[in-house]
Amino acid sequence: MDDKQKRKIKFNRRKFLKSVGATTIGTILGFPSILKYARGERMFSRPVFKRFFLLLAELVLSFLVVCAFLTECIAQQPSIQQLKDKLIMANKILDAEGLAKPLGHISVRIPNTETFLITRNVAPGMSVLDDILVCNIDGKVIEGKYSRTFSEVVIHSEIYKKRKDIQSVAHTHSLHVIALSMTETPILPASFEAIELGPGPIAIYKKIAFIDKPEQASEICDLLGPNKAVMLKGHGAVIVGKSIEETTILSYKLELAARLQLLAASIGKIAPFTEDEKKPINEFLEAVEKRGVTSTSYGRAWLYYQHVLK
Ligand SMILES: [Zn+2]
Repeated sequence: MDDKQKRKIKFNRRKFLKSVGATTIGTILGFPSILKYARGERMFSRPVFKRFFLLLAELVLSFLVVCAFLTECIAQQPSIQQLKDKLIMANKILDAEGLAKPLGHISVRIPNTETFLITRNVAPGMSVLDDILVCNIDGKVIEGKYSRTFSEVVIHSEIYKKRKDIQSVAHTHSLHVIALSMTETPILPASFEAIELGPGPIAIYKKIAFIDKPEQASEICDLLGPNKAVMLKGHGAVIVGKSIEETTILSYKLELAARLQLLAASIGKIAPFTEDEKKPINEFLEAVEKRGVTSTSYGRAWLYYQHVLK
């Protein structure tokens, strides 16, 4: 990654425009008084040094407002180092939960870029910081100590290419998900775990193939729809999210949802939640999302894993 890209990733365009807007409004509001002082209209009511002091105070205040907004723009973006640390933690979680033992992978988009972080082709459970590579939107390694990553890297690159809202992608070989996919049974919205993965049912990619061609990955991406996962028949799953924390924990929730569905199916017919039943649950999930990541179920789960896997 060159210097230009590094500068770009620290920059949040929306927040920057907000700060420029706020500063412009502040200047417009303050301009008449600046003009008055400059013209000396209050020359007789205030001494010169007082006028100069007020003008200076106004300029300093404007400068501080701009600085505060720009600091916020930069501070809210995770640094590359933080993303790398999170990627290693995500790999540890997938390994600990048996979702990628030893095959599978997870990646995270470098914010506001068409590049992403993924490890070289090692088992997630043994990955270290030095294994992390930067790939471009075609899945080519452009930075890192190694030249090769997973052959299935196209799953990640194609999804990032087609879905700008997605910040992290995982591919797991999740046991109970595979079991359900073998009977072409989709995961139904019949548990809280399943509901977190979207309105459902979770679609199944039925072409039996090793996913190393962009066209295949593109078809998988299209199957996502409003959901956050796709099952791969007899193979595993692809999970996506708006953060690496969400994608990692949803990978585990998908496995839980599949396990619960299999258990329930051994007792009787599955009764998916109705739209009316789903409504309060979805409202609750939206409300906790607004409170911040640590309030969400995936945020709390991430903290738990950070505690037990450090
Ligand atoms: Zn695979």
